[in-house]
Amino acid sequence: MDKMSKSGHKIRLYNTLSKAKERFEPIDPDNVRMYVCGPTVYDYAHIGNARPAIVFDVLFRLLRQTYGADHVTYLRNITDVDDKINARAARDFPGVPLNEAIRKLTATTERQYQDDMKELGCLDPTRQPRATENIDEMIAMITTLIEQGHAYEAQGHVLFRVASFRQGEQTRYGELSHRSLDDMIAGARVEVAPYKKDPMDFVLWKPSDDDQPGWDSPWGNGRPGWHIECSAMSRKFLGPTFDIHGGGIDLSFPHHENERAQSCCANGTERMARIWMHNGFLQINGEKMSKSLGNFFTVHELLHGTKFGGRSWPGDVLRLAMLTRHYREPIDLSVDRLTEAERMLERWKRAMAASGLDFVEANRGACEALGPCSKLLAALSDDMNMAGVLTHLHRHAKASESGTRLHNAQRLFGSLNLLGIVSFDSMKNWQEATEKLQENADVDVEKITVAIAQRKAALAEKNWAEADRIRDQLASEGIRLTDSKDTETGERITRWEVVK
Ligand code: AMP
Ligand code: ZN
Repeated sequence: MDKMSKSGHKIRLYNTLSKAKERFEPIDPDNVRMYVCGPTVYDYAHIGNARPAIVFDVLFRLLRQTYGADHVTYLRNITDVDDKINARAARDFPGVPLNEAIRKLTATTERQYQDDMKELGCLDPTRQPRATENIDEMIAMITTLIEQGHAYEAQGHVLFRVASFRQGEQTRYGELSHRSLDDMIAGARVEVAPYKKDPMDFVLWKPSDDDQPGWDSPWGNGRPGWHIECSAMSRKFLGPTFDIHGGGIDLSFPHHENERAQSCCANGTERMARIWMHNGFLQINGEKMSKSLGNFFTVHELLHGTKFGGRSWPGDVLRLAMLTRHYREPIDLSVDRLTEAERMLERWKRAMAASGLDFVEANRGACEALGPCSKLLAALSDDMNMAGVLTHLHRHAKASESGTRLHNAQRLFGSLNLLGIVSFDSMKNWQEATEKLQENADVDVEKITVAIAQRKAALAEKNWAEADRIRDQLASEGIRLTDSKDTETGERITRWEVVK
């Protein structure tokens, strides 16, 4: 079956490898496969880490919408073996045997990560394999690389021979990040270990001391390097060549360059992934986020703390704010951006609720079946063009405030639901909370109705000062008025609500 024509839209994605937007043609439309490099679990995820999680979650949702929810496999690994983990475990759990401390640290951090991502509206990936549960696959892949002359053992280490990743006379290392070997050597400011035959060669396996985590291998007790983890796990769960590989732009070199070299050489394939996608970096108020600058924020801190702008920020606001820039551009996170997202979201929620969409249990099925607007879907399918997506969201919001209300509110909900910004449950909770606020508020409905009628009369007489006075008087009592115009009758509609 041609799934592309069934859903009626075509996806185009920018490929870092070709530096061009390409028509996305899955290898197997019945099983579209995506791999995204996941967290190293030693501390709370920072707000920059949330960007790839959200960006690729939106892509996952788009792929599910296009090919069917059961026809997409999204893998995001959990790096639970890493020297940063060892150092943090030793620091946080003094006196506890290191291996036990590591288990405690990684289990706690992994749980925190899953909780944070859920609050940001991210679906669980299809699988989240842990590195430590796939060591055999890594050893097998390294063994193949040695057998085929792509890797060598030296002083308990196994190193990948970068020069062996070539086509004829041409090196293939650097193709993805578009770097020359000279650039890469100059950029690798690390001290070159004496056992390396070439400064570019990188570690596949390294020896472990007795107190470090280690596994038996043909090269002694040791642990894997970081890059081999993604190559081994993507092959195990997605096969030697899959559709999309994603991560932040910082990973394009050396991590993805290394993954690609290992996988293509071990699997004897031309390609590891068809499309390589990278999100741009997140900055805070125009500056690179870093602990030393004191502008380092975790997702948890933004969701539950008060250090960013003196308050906490709901997950849906954070998610929307994160989606207000194209995923390949850098994004600046600021209180202004978050406030703007919150205002937009509030307006959309009110527009939906006021338009007759009633988020009560009896309507769940009907609401969840609502689809996105086709133009919005086309914008999203064009390399996730969020500017286009936002234009359509605003258009539907505006039209649902006046004119063909219910239809536009339905499109707005269907679209926001696809993007993971709202869900039936989030709207139901919002509606219940809003109703409770109105019920509990000590308001005199009669008085408000009279005031609105007086204001309407004042407006009809062009007595703007009196109309404003009435509006301001109500505002001072915590009643907000919003005006809109019914595009069919031209009549002014004034709604009121209690504001917190
Ligand atoms: P790490 O745990 O550092 O390997 O990062 C996990 C993911 O977050 C990777 O895809 C990184 O590229 C991404 N990432 C890290 N810092 C940022 C940032 N400031 N902005 C956007 N993405 C980031
Ligand atoms: Zn990776």
